[in-house]
Amino acid sequence: MLEKLNAFDMAQKQFDSVAQTLNLDPGVIGVLRWPMREFTFRIPIRRDDGSLQFFQGFRVQHNDARGPNKGGIRFAADETLDTVRALAMWMTWKCAVADIPLGGGKGGIIVDPSTLSDGEKEALCRGWVLQMWRNIGPRQDIPAPDVGTNSQMMGWMMDEYSRIVGQYTPGVFTGKPVEGGGSQGRTAATGFGVIYTVREAMKHLKMDPKKSVAAIEGFGNVAQFAAIGFIEMLGGNVACVSCYDRTDKKSYTYSHKDGVDPRYLLTIVDGYGTISKDAATKAGYIIEDGDAWITKEADVLIPAAIEGHVNSETIQKMSSRVKIVAEGANGPVTPEADEFFKSNKIFDIPDFLCNAGGVTTSYFEQVQNDMNFYWSHAEVLEKLDVKMTSAFNAVWDRSVKEGVYMRDAAYMVAINRVVKAMEIRGWLNAGW
Ligand code: NAD
Repeated sequence: MLEKLNAFDMAQKQFDSVAQTLNLDPGVIGVLRWPMREFTFRIPIRRDDGSLQFFQGFRVQHNDARGPNKGGIRFAADETLDTVRALAMWMTWKCAVADIPLGGGKGGIIVDPSTLSDGEKEALCRGWVLQMWRNIGPRQDIPAPDVGTNSQMMGWMMDEYSRIVGQYTPGVFTGKPVEGGGSQGRTAATGFGVIYTVREAMKHLKMDPKKSVAAIEGFGNVAQFAAIGFIEMLGGNVACVSCYDRTDKKSYTYSHKDGVDPRYLLTIVDGYGTISKDAATKAGYIIEDGDAWITKEADVLIPAAIEGHVNSETIQKMSSRVKIVAEGANGPVTPEADEFFKSNKIFDIPDFLCNAGGVTTSYFEQVQNDMNFYWSHAEVLEKLDVKMTSAFNAVWDRSVKEGVYMRDAAYMVAINRVVKAMEIRGWLNAGW
C-alpha cells in the first residue's frame, strides 16, 4: 500500500536518522527538528469580479545560525504549513551543504495561480509583503521564486518592500528579472546544477555520459534546464519528460523515438510547465500516463516535478538499468524508496545537494546586489559549477570516509556545519 506522505514527518525522519549517528546533544536535536519561527497570516485582495477574498499565507524560518534565512515562496492550491516547514528545513541543509552563508526558510500562499489575473497576482504578492516586511530583509530573510511564482512576482515583491522601507532594496528578494537586479544564469541555475552533480557522479561511477539516457519527471523550470544540460553539456539522450495538465487534472509522460528535444518542447510549453498535447503529437511524441516516465529504459532518473512521486508504488515499475537518481525536485523520494535504493546500490544524489544550484545563484544575486556590480552569464555559470562540484565532492568524500549513503553523508556535512555555527554563536549554552 502507498505510504501516507507528510513532508514534514519525512524531513524530521531523515534528520533523526542521521542526528543519532552524530552524537549530538538531545537539546540540539530538539532545536533542529523544528523551525525557529513560523508566520501564518491571511491576505485580503479585491478580485477582478469585485469580490473580496482572503488567502492563507505562510513563512517559516527554520534556522539562521549561518546567515539570513533563504528560500522560495510557493503559490499552490495544496500548500500546507507542514509542507512549508519541511521545505524550510531542507533549505537549512541545502545552504549548509552548498556552503553558502545563509539559513533556511520557505513561504507560500494557498492558491492556484492559474486562476488569478496578472493584477490579482500582483495584489497577492504585495499583500504577502505587507504581512511579512518586518521579518524579512537582506540581513534577515531573503525569499525567492518557487513552484507557482516567477521573476516578475519577485520584482513586485521587491518593489513593495522598497516602497515600505523607503529605500531601493534589491537584495531582499532574489530571482528577480535580470533588468530589475536579477542575476544572469538564474533561470538555468537549478537545472544546470543538477547536471553538474550528475556529471560528477558519473565520473565516480565510471559511466560514459555520452552513452547515457535520462528519464525526467516534470517540464518546468528545473526539468527544462536539466534536459537541456543533459543533452548539451553531457552529450547524453533524454528519453522522456512529463507534466501535469490542469485542464485534464492528470499528468502525462512525453517521449520520442529519437529522444526528446527540450529546445523544441520549450516552444510548446506554457508558463506552468504544461506541454501542448496537440503540438507534441504532431511532432511525433508519444503521450502516456504520468507515471510512465519512471518505467523508461534509462541510466539516470531525474524527478524534477513535486514531492513524493518516487515511492514504494512507482519504484516497482522502475527499469533495472537505472544507476543514478538525481533529485531535481524537493523531497521526490520517499523513505521507503530511499531504502530500496540503498539496498539495490542505486546512487542517489539527494535533493538538497542536487538542486542547490538555484539557491547558490540566488546567493550570487544577493552578492551582486550588495556590490551593485554584475557578472556575465558565463561568469555566473562558471562560479556555479565550482560551488556545485565542490559541494558534491565534500559529500562524496564523507560518504566514502564513513561508508554511508549519499543522503546520510550530505546530512552529516550540513548538520555539522549548522551545529558549528550555532556553537560559534554561543547558542549551545544559551543562557538568554
Ligand atoms: P515549475 O512549476 O516550473 O514546474 C513544475 C513541473 O512539474 C511542471 O512541468 C508541472 O507540470 C510538473 N508537475 C506538477 N505536478 C505534476 C505531477 N503530478 N506529475 C507530473 N508532473 C507534474 O516548478 P520548478 O521550479 O521546476 O520546481 C520543480 C521542483 O523543484 C519543486 O519541487 C521545487 O520545489 C524544486 N526546486 C525548484 C528550484 C528552482 O529554482 N525552480 C530550486 C530548487 C528546487
